Amino acid sequence: MILPRERKLTVEQLAEVTEIVESFDCHIQTIVGTERCVYAILGDESSETMVNRLEGLAYIDRVDRIQAQNKLMSRYSELSRHKIRVGGITLGEELLVIAGQCTVDPKNPNLFIETAHAVKEAGAHALRGGVWKPRTTPHSFQGDNKSLKTVLEARDQTGLPVNIEVMDEDQLKMALDARVDMVQVGTRNALNYSFLKKIGKATRDEGTLVLLKRGMHMGRTSEFVSAAEYIVAGGNPNVLLCPRGTVPGLDGYRSHPDECITPLLKEQTWAPVVVDPSHSVGRSIYVPYCSAAAVAYGADGLCIETHIRPQEGIGDDPKQSITPDVLKDLIVELNGLWHLREKFQMP
Ligand code: PEP
Ligand code: MN
Repeated sequence: MILPRERKLTVEQLAEVTEIVESFDCHIQTIVGTERCVYAILGDESSETMVNRLEGLAYIDRVDRIQAQNKLMSRYSELSRHKIRVGGITLGEELLVIAGQCTVDPKNPNLFIETAHAVKEAGAHALRGGVWKPRTTPHSFQGDNKSLKTVLEARDQTGLPVNIEVMDEDQLKMALDARVDMVQVGTRNALNYSFLKKIGKATRDEGTLVLLKRGMHMGRTSEFVSAAEYIVAGGNPNVLLCPRGTVPGLDGYRSHPDECITPLLKEQTWAPVVVDPSHSVGRSIYVPYCSAAAVAYGADGLCIETHIRPQEGIGDDPKQSITPDVLKDLIVELNGLWHLREKFQMP
């Protein structure tokens, strides 16, 4: 990773650096951080000569060579200074709460608008709403393009930034054309490396937020961090890691809850951790406990399925959505646990 002396390299400087790096069969990827731009060297950056030539340039501060497998995501990377902001808060400074329906019902868009107002009133900072749904069987409701308009309408009315899941390039394009604030990569696509690369590139210019769910079949936490590395290597550092439970499920839970990996992720990476308790435990009655556990483990945020009247919902909503009233109380309790992260801080 090349760190310039100033905030960013000029066009001429970048051309000179690119020429050097390419002569060693590597490539440059500019990553726009909040403090300054960093220039990732993609490829084998082990050549001493390449590093010496780069460090010999007057406008280069230094070249960091991190020995980690995920060198951009590493907590020792310069990108650890990068600050991610969502809905008026800076991740790591205050608990982020993303809330909203699993699925927007195209037959009842007003329900979603009502939910949006209610979650805002409850204290959420961002709104989620499934437009396109990854369903286990092709015979289930797959989502509807027209719900994108409903989500945008809810954003206009509430001022909340919106998160929607995209499963393919067409959906990604539609979401980015609509300037959604956050795209979600669901658990099923978390290991789709070519899609992750495309998301990194497509979101690079706007720095669109990406909520990356943990693959339900993922094992080691490093596999999760590597998936995020693909997005950042595409040029977008605004990635949030979202543990959401793995398979097989634990007894009566939908998945095997994994909020406990939060400290393990934080040992490896600077990226904020936003836990999804809803798909983890899968029943609204268990969601508050899982949310509290996540905050106790040091999570920076939560993504909670919430519905104004869950029994009228579709998709996961009838089973796992909490109501805005519960959300409101929960946010108060969760904020009361926030101090634990300072109390038991890592060395
Ligand atoms: C969702 O967020 O509604 C969803 C389907 O998520 P996941 O990819 O975690 O199953
Ligand atoms: Mn869902």
